[in-house]
This record gives sequence, C-alpha cells and structure tokens, in this order.
Amino acid sequence: MSVAGGLEKALLRGRQAGCRVVQVFTRGTSRWEVGALSQAEVIRFREARAQTGVEPVAAHVSYLINLASPRNDVREKSLAALEDEVKRSARLEIPYLVMHPGAHLGTGTDLGLRRIAEGIGHVLRRTPAVPVMILLETTAGQGTGLGHRFEHLAVILERVGAPDRMGVCLDTCHVFAAGYDFRSRAGYEDLMAAFEKEIGLERLKVVHVNDSRREAGSRVDRHAHIGQGCIGARGFGFFMQDRLFRDTPFILETPKDKDPKGTDMDVVNMRTLRMLETNG
Ligand SMILES: [Zn+2]
Repeated sequence: MSVAGGLEKALLRGRQAGCRVVQVFTRGTSRWEVGALSQAEVIRFREARAQTGVEPVAAHVSYLINLASPRNDVREKSLAALEDEVKRSARLEIPYLVMHPGAHLGTGTDLGLRRIAEGIGHVLRRTPAVPVMILLETTAGQGTGLGHRFEHLAVILERVGAPDRMGVCLDTCHVFAAGYDFRSRAGYEDLMAAFEKEIGLERLKVVHVNDSRREAGSRVDRHAHIGQGCIGARGFGFFMQDRLFRDTPFILETPKDKDPKGTDMDVVNMRTLRMLETNG
C-alpha cells in the first residue's frame, strides 16, 4: 500500500480495500537521504493500526539498496540504509523487512553472494536483539540481479546464519519469470519441492501474489493483475488451496488502478484470490 501523505495512510488504504495485512515502505523508494521517523509519526501509525485492525506485516526496503555492488560508495550507503530500515521497522513494530538480495553488476555470482551475506551480517551485528526478520525475496533475475535461483538464497542464508533473523519472501511473478513454471499441478509441486530442498519451507514467511506480464523464464519483472497475466488463475489456485500457507501473509503488489466499473483493482484481485481459495 502507498504511504503517500503519511505512513499511517497505508493502513487506512488497506482497510478501505479490505486487506487484513499490508506491506509498506518506511523510507520511500528512490532517495538515499531521508529524515528520521518522528515520535508523532510512530504514534499516528500505532493508532491507525489499532483503529483499523490492519496488520503492517512487512516493510519493503528502498530499491536503491544494493549490497552486492562493487562500488564502495554504493555499498556504504546501502549498509547504512539497511541498518536504518531495520531500526525503522522495529520502531513501527513491523516484524518482517523484505529485500531483493542485490545485483552483482558484472562482478559475478559468487562474489555478489558473498558481498550480500557479509553486508547483512554486518547490519545484524549492529542491530542485535532487534525483533525484525530480514526476508530475502526471490527475484526474476533481471540483468545481473541475484536471487532468481533458490540456490542463491540458500548460499546467503547459510553464510549469514542467524536463523531467527533471516527468512524468505516468495514472489509468484518473480519465480515464474525466473523459470519456475507452476501453472500445472506438477509444476507447482516441483516449485515447492525445489524450495524445500534448497531453502526449507519453514523459512518461507511471506508470499507476494502477483501475476506476470512476461513468460516463464523471461527473467523480466513485470507484475500483472491476478489471472490476467501469463500465469493465469489456475496457478494461484494451487497457492490459495495449499494448507501450508494457511497462516502465511499474502501481499498484492499488482498495479494500483481501477477496473472499467471503477472498482479498485486491489479489491478485484483479492476477490479473485478468495474465490480460488474455495474452488480451483
Ligand atoms: Zn515482490
């Protein structure tokens, strides 16, 4: 949900759309320099949470952060920003902080993964005993982006350790674009088996439910409305009916527009998902 006009607006927008949980940005997405959270902002957020009953289950880090960057200045800024993101989430009592692992920018997968693990380790050591779990998001693998293979996430998780501070967020659009084609029952089972083998399903804390405008294996990250992209409704039915996800937060990151009748597409997408929950 958008935080335009104040962080607490995301909770109010969430309630309006009928959400039980939302994901927010606490630092904006496109600038390195941001002001500190004021006590008034924290209080307004806490009040909106109590008033709406909408749980801000996850924050998503700024897209500027790249722990795998070979550039020292970017790396330094990324480390500082990630540390700040962890502290902001803690102040707002948001349990999960979602991040894309990073892009190696031509320096290779192994070095990129090592930089990411070292960077996260550094931030966790500087924020001990903070009850915020960092979730590595599965990515589409655009350009030199890492995290489109479950093996990448496994390497980072293993190097960082700290299992109580580290988990994974699965994005349906991204895994599909990365080549995990779950449109058939067999494909869905293969996806889950691969996740279990490489990472372990107990580490899967949040699911981003998005359809994909691009084909399986395209490695292009373009979100579509549920059932209107290349995945189609059936693939989402497998997720919605899987008992494994009964208590897992599902978050929409689909385009924020309206259908021809003027209905908010968040509402339409949630209706589609809830229908798929009962008949698939
Ligand atoms: Zn996502």
